[in-house]
Amino acid sequence: MAPITPSKGVKSTKLHSKVVIIGSGPAGHTAAVYLSRANLNPVLFEGFLANGFAAGGQLTTTTDVENYPGFPDGVLGGELTEKFRQQSIRFGTIVITETISKLDLSVRPFKYWREGAEGDPNAFETADAIILATGASAKRLNLPGEDTYWNNGISACAVCDGAVPIFRNKPLAVVGGGDSAAEEATFLTKYGSHVYVLVRRDKLRASDIMAKRLLSNPKITVLWNTVPIEAQGKNGLLSNIRLKDTKTGEERDLPANGLFYAIGHTPATELVKGQLETDAEGYVITVPGTTLTNVKGVFAAGDVQDKRYRQAITSAGTGCMAALEAEKLLAEEEELGH
Ligand code: FAD
Ligand code: NDP
Repeated sequence: MAPITPSKGVKSTKLHSKVVIIGSGPAGHTAAVYLSRANLNPVLFEGFLANGFAAGGQLTTTTDVENYPGFPDGVLGGELTEKFRQQSIRFGTIVITETISKLDLSVRPFKYWREGAEGDPNAFETADAIILATGASAKRLNLPGEDTYWNNGISACAVCDGAVPIFRNKPLAVVGGGDSAAEEATFLTKYGSHVYVLVRRDKLRASDIMAKRLLSNPKITVLWNTVPIEAQGKNGLLSNIRLKDTKTGEERDLPANGLFYAIGHTPATELVKGQLETDAEGYVITVPGTTLTNVKGVFAAGDVQDKRYRQAITSAGTGCMAALEAEKLLAEEEELGH
């Protein structure tokens, strides 16, 4: 089929849709591709700087993506998200450049409000099914120097960025003491000369097995009761981390060319607070092995329900699952005459 030129996001009038997708990362767009190819005429709200991200999601904030299959030479994050969008539109998805600010999931069809309309109880539109693909954002420390060296030594994803040349055979640091920190530090030992793990307490939060792996690795040193307080560098690249001892208040320097944040993520679930079951950290809980939430007709895909993998490809995978599950539900209901 000939490619169709993507439209700019359109502003639409009132809608009732079979399926509305909220979010425009790999999860949302993969769901859109499947649903539009199944003739379900999905509407995808890509957001207008929703949750602090441009439409397209977290990948718009990065340069090279080297682990997404199909791109043997890598692809720029922004280019990949634009391709996702083009593919959704090619098959008929209506992409709307607005943010959904309010949802009512108490009855079907579900009601939703666009940003700006949430104050008017009658300004809602409706959908028989909703795919929530609003993503997540890595927690940051807001250190002095953080903005300067973000993507130039500081990263929130070792698996994504660890292999880049600026980290090769250089001292690196990971901040955090959970499973992510343990996993990322271990991963980074493949690239860095040595990895320091900055733990703010005298204890790890990581599970026993991950902690054991971390502590027994000769290329890793845990610096207990330690937090970074400033990122410093040369020629635009990180080269030093100013550290503080949380017990004594003493400060010192750690020469390092990489600082990886592993202090948790915040899922974008404000919209469904009190309506969908979430865990203690706010991630949507899905029935294991599916994207089904506790509300029939609402499916969650991507980072909003995944604190374990948090990758573009896993988000795309769950986006596909959500679409197939939504399609199945709607087909069953149609058969029963609902
Ligand atoms: P997201 O990408 O988080 O996108 C969600 C989108 O939904 C956002 O655009 C947001 O604005 C929008 N949205 C949110 N709320 C609303 C709303 N209420 N209404 C409308 N829209 C809304 N992964 C890899 O596999 N390889 C990499 O190399 C890689 N590099 C990365 C580099 C960086 C710097 C970061 C931050 C992440 C990286 N990741 C990488 C992780 C990857 O980007 C995420 O796992 C993936 O993007 C998650 O996809 P998602 O579809 O769940 O949502
Ligand atoms: P966690 O919330 O488990 O851990 C966050 C870590 O960061 C904690 O050690 C915390 O310290 C520290 N931290 C938080 N804020 C700051 C701060 N401002 N300054 C310094 N340190 C800070 O997040 P993870 O991402 O590690 O894990 C999330 C979930 O995903 C967990 O359930 C985990 O088990 C799971 N996971 C599992 C993996 C696996 O099984 N292989 C791999 C990755 C994640 P403190 O302890 O003092 O609060």
